[in-house]
Amino acid sequence: MKARLFLLSVAAAHLAAAMPRIGYAQHESAREVAVTFDDLPATHNDVGEMRSINSRLLKSLERNGVRAVGFVNEAKLFGRGGETARTALLRQWLSAGHELGNHTYSHVAIDRVPFEDYKRDLIRGEAVTAGLLREKNMRLRYFRHTQLRTGPTPAYKKALDNLLAVRGYTVAPVTIDNNDYIFADVYARAKARGDRVQMGMIADAYIPYMEQVFGHFEKLSRDFLGYEVKQVLLLHANVLNADHFDRLAVMMRRRGYSFITLEQALADKAYRLPDAQTAKGLSWLHRWMLAKGQQVRPEPREPEFIMKLYAAISGR
Ligand SMILES: [Zn+2]
Repeated sequence: MKARLFLLSVAAAHLAAAMPRIGYAQHESAREVAVTFDDLPATHNDVGEMRSINSRLLKSLERNGVRAVGFVNEAKLFGRGGETARTALLRQWLSAGHELGNHTYSHVAIDRVPFEDYKRDLIRGEAVTAGLLREKNMRLRYFRHTQLRTGPTPAYKKALDNLLAVRGYTVAPVTIDNNDYIFADVYARAKARGDRVQMGMIADAYIPYMEQVFGHFEKLSRDFLGYEVKQVLLLHANVLNADHFDRLAVMMRRRGYSFITLEQALADKAYRLPDAQTAKGLSWLHRWMLAKGQQVRPEPREPEFIMKLYAAISGR
């Protein structure tokens, strides 16, 4: 009797100790995210700027133990000289242990061209990247839709899904969708002017904005899937992320994230859910929700001052 009571109380103590841990593990320490970068070699056209962005980004990824996938627009390899230097930047990604994927040749806008044109541009975007991967005994296997748009009509999406399957691609979905490019545009302008005060203000607003976006999609995932999916983060290869990826990584680690590869993320069963056809560029969480007849939820907004700066430079 005594022994049983003892065992029971030991079991209870174990349970008590285990309970809060389970909650902690699910919501804070077991979070995982795969980091991906679009528009390689960079969103800037100048070779020197590209080189600087890539070298700083790659150093930051290494410091933070991130193995990323970079999605290439090969048209950017052939602009205004320096083709070899631009291609060398892509080689650096592979040498550092990252992977490259296709993001179409010219970043073609899916809703502005017929399917045959999109197809041509997609295939044209394979040439250099596939060759670089072959040098490393790797295969071009990931495709990232431009603007996260998968086709303006059901027929278009179906044709594109078929094309991607036939060419052996895995679609690289995004769950943590965000507007880093808006912050990056105004940041690059401030940097070009040498306006360090404004650069600081923009960067200081960028990190909490991204944290809000993470919180938003974490909750969406818990509400819809009942757990937090292995997330896929979309960022762009730009000067803002080259300057501040370290701070993003600190934020992610504080939220309990560890960094995984895209392949590891896609092992999550959620990525086998049907994704709804929609003309909009949306997080895959929203696509899965739409496919189940649920509404898209409004996403965190950029601060007012960022939108004012952005409106000023884009003439809107
Ligand atoms: Zn892009």
